[in-house]
Amino acid sequence: MTNCSVCNEPSLPKKIVNFTKASVKHIFNGLENVPTSIEEERLFICTHCPFRSDEDNKLICTHKDCGCPIKQKIKWSSEECPIGLWSKYIEDKDLDKNVT
Ligand code: SF4
Repeated sequence: MTNCSVCNEPSLPKKIVNFTKASVKHIFNGLENVPTSIEEERLFICTHCPFRSDEDNKLICTHKDCGCPIKQKIKWSSEECPIGLWSKYIEDKDLDKNVT
């Protein structure tokens, strides 16, 4: 797939606003990234999604509420899919403390 044929891709200014909001959320979330296994899981889902565009070899989520570069979006713990195919990643740090 090169162009998204089923969505209403956001304009460039809207993409910039959305990506800036995502970046600010990521900063306020302590710049936390997901484990590699979660990143791979998210990438698999995005790769098979009709909202994915790979125009100019850049993977972009073309959903009207997103427009972000997928390879960046899937790394950030604070990010979630706009249609609920994957969610924010919340590490259970209390659970880790109990493991000896
Ligand atoms: S973030 Fe969600 S809507 Fe966007 S490409 Fe990935 S799976 Fe599709």
